[in-house]
Amino acid sequence: MNNKLYGTLIFELSREGRCGYSLPRNEYSHSTVELPKTLRREKVAELPECDELTVVRHYTNHSNNNFGVNNGFYPLGSCTMKYNPVINEEVAARPEFANLHPQQPRETCEGAYRLHSEVRSMLSALTGMSDFTLSPCAGAHGELTGLMIIRSYHESRGDLKRTRVIIPDSAHGTNPASAAVCGLEVVEVKSTADGMVDVEHLKTLLDDTIAGMMMTNPNTLGLFERNIPEIARLVHECGGLMYYDGANLNPMLGVCRPGDMGFDVMHINLHKTFSTPHGGGGPGSGPVGVRKGLEEFLSKVTVGPYLGNYGVVVRAWAYLKTLGRENVRMVGPLATLNANYVKERLKDLYELPIDRICMHEFVFDGLKDKSTGVTTMDIAKRLLDYGYHAPTIYFPLLFHESMMIEPTENESRETLDAFIDVMRTIAQEAKDNPELVKTAPHTTPIGRVDDVEAAKHPVVKYE
Ligand SMILES: *Cc1c(COP(=O)(O)O)cnc(C)c1O
Repeated sequence: MNNKLYGTLIFELSREGRCGYSLPRNEYSHSTVELPKTLRREKVAELPECDELTVVRHYTNHSNNNFGVNNGFYPLGSCTMKYNPVINEEVAARPEFANLHPQQPRETCEGAYRLHSEVRSMLSALTGMSDFTLSPCAGAHGELTGLMIIRSYHESRGDLKRTRVIIPDSAHGTNPASAAVCGLEVVEVKSTADGMVDVEHLKTLLDDTIAGMMMTNPNTLGLFERNIPEIARLVHECGGLMYYDGANLNPMLGVCRPGDMGFDVMHINLHKTFSTPHGGGGPGSGPVGVRKGLEEFLSKVTVGPYLGNYGVVVRAWAYLKTLGRENVRMVGPLATLNANYVKERLKDLYELPIDRICMHEFVFDGLKDKSTGVTTMDIAKRLLDYGYHAPTIYFPLLFHESMMIEPTENESRETLDAFIDVMRTIAQEAKDNPELVKTAPHTTPIGRVDDVEAAKHPVVKYE
């Protein structure tokens, strides 16, 4: 790859007076309108001046440096980087949907409302909840919304002392962050050695200041929480509500429902489970559902005439309609099968701290052979040389060398075998030539960056 090309900014390609596009001269009207002085800029805007082909090449070359699900295997644990079928894009791009205006009168877009309400019903059917709002725009946004629902539920009963929320130590970082933003105090419950919520520890935390408990299932270790019915009973008995972080809904799709397990409020990551491309922070949608009896709190958070991040809602609709009721049941089992296949074929070389059947993802604690000095970071970097996206690394925080692998249901046996071969090759390289792995990547436009230097002295503007 051309290193120079990679680093070039569009401003460096600018040549004074060069122009890519110009409007035809106005031959009909010679009147000009003067902008008020207060609205005029004092200096000329420093915009790049380039011809169209230069602009096209510039951005095409940048986009080729990107890596997505459409380029190759993307086992980024916790993120569910599943294939996003092209038909979803076609449906979402229809002008009737793509050109909707938030203030459009309802009678001009009944179809859009109907689709919106169909997605709410399908999500309710899949999760066992009573109804959903599609307003929140991400998982974290859904968490905050759900916690606000829990808070207003307690407030509506005059129960104002419930200001604390229980969150497992294995939780995704957004859980405690959302609780804090919602003004709730976080109480951490420990995990047992086999990766489950520690029920005995939980019992010691429960009292009448507890607003509720947030749980992810399967949890961030990819393990199905075994004690949910008991946990839900304990939390309910003390007057709290159960919140389900549904970002890991994928392996449960069509197999079991959080609503049947005692959860009261939940969110879903449409961009993960229901296939919207979601690299680089967007777009997303985090619908929030409530069980029967809590619907009144849902309407408070559903924003008036707006339909949420509508393009993502349409993609979820297209995804579910093309799979259909029968095939949607295959998603969870296939995601689970793929993850277990990769885990079983690598666990002789990679440290598997909790050796159980996993769900859609699993966590290694680095290489089994610790004598090589090769870390999870080194392995992640070396994978780039072989054309793979790296797994999620150093999360969850329960192990020192966490490496979280989520293959998703879409990958073929051949793709999984090829990835397994590369992981085994890297383990061998770590023995034979550790320097090769420790200095990776070698084939990317930018080699190993100095993390510490980048954190301490970040250069965030062009100089
Ligand atoms: C991705 C994820 C979230 C947050 O979702 P965003 O859409 O990124 O805000 C929360 N919890 C878990 C378990 C996740 O995997």
